[in-house]
Amino acid sequence: TRAVFLRKRPDAGVPKPENFEVRETDVGPVRGDQILVENRYMSVDPSMRGRLGTSEMHYTTSFVEDAPLDGSAIGVVVRGNDRIPAGACVRHRLGWRDLAVVDVDAAAVIEPRGVDLHHWLGVLGQPGFTAYCGLLRAGGLRAGDEVFVSAAAGAVGSAAGQFARLLGASRVIGSAGGPAKAALLTERLGFDAAIDYRSEPVADGLRRVSDGIDLYFDNVGGDHLIAALHRLRMNGRVALCGMISAVGDDRPPVDHLMQAILKRITLTGFIVRDHEDLRAEFEDRVLGWLAAGELVAESTIHRGIDNAVEAFLAMLDGGNVGKMLVELN
Ligand code: NDP
Repeated sequence: TRAVFLRKRPDAGVPKPENFEVRETDVGPVRGDQILVENRYMSVDPSMRGRLGTSEMHYTTSFVEDAPLDGSAIGVVVRGNDRIPAGACVRHRLGWRDLAVVDVDAAAVIEPRGVDLHHWLGVLGQPGFTAYCGLLRAGGLRAGDEVFVSAAAGAVGSAAGQFARLLGASRVIGSAGGPAKAALLTERLGFDAAIDYRSEPVADGLRRVSDGIDLYFDNVGGDHLIAALHRLRMNGRVALCGMISAVGDDRPPVDHLMQAILKRITLTGFIVRDHEDLRAEFEDRVLGWLAAGELVAESTIHRGIDNAVEAFLAMLDGGNVGKMLVELN
């Protein structure tokens, strides 16, 4: 089978094509407590950039040089066992390869429930679930909130903005890079206003479109977080989801935290895996919204394992709308 290997860690945290290599590799034996899965879709995620380095600036393990990368994937079981039969669809953590030998305990059977399989890595998978937990748990979303979402045309952001509206926000604002993405937010995804942070400083954009926000869903950090702190109302809340703008830089916006004191702002970081108890309710609600036509699930799909690295690098550079995926086989 073929898999994407980490050839050499990137210098200064900025990955390039030469850091990776697609290699032929043995599938290896399949033990009794394992299944053989033919991967259909694999995810490329911002957190994989952190995993290419050796620092602790991510929430799983670092990738290993001369070993295959890993990450979420969905596939069809081609050799099953008594617990998961051949033909079942499973979601697991061994992406970046065409065929995966997966421990049964590390595979979740997916019933597609009438929805295209790839959405189970997108709006019905970890990005959608991140948006849901971030709004409700970290952000304490309340009916009537004015909500601001950054990286709003991406996988988590496009879900967060739409979920906020469906869960009772009074107004939803998004920021994204470029005029096409800004137009997508208001024309297709139901945002009330959009900021193209490449054509104006995000602070200016926020002042232009909002008198005050109650909840900021932060995917970006940096200037976005600073601008939001200045635009939040009294008792405002920030759900700290990710800091994609801060390559290898974890300096908090300390000079601006006086805003948090003055306005009694709560900043809450969260990691999606701590909220599994919400998973069933999340899936039921999202399936309902999709069936009712109230939710748009965007994705950008590249094809073939040879294009997986390109998809990953393009995603970091804003080359995706909605969830960035690679279709395999
Ligand atoms: P996206 O689909 O949003 O893709 C990344 C997007 O980030 C790009 O499309 C690009 O959009 C934007 N971006 C890249 N660089 C910058 C920059 N310098 N400033 C502003 N925007 C930038 O990825 P995901 O939806 O998968 O992830 C979104 C965030 O959520 C990430 O920060 C990720 O780490 C975080 N996350 C956190 C989890 C948690 O448990 N806390 C779980 C999963 C994800 P544009 O063209 O608009 O710039």
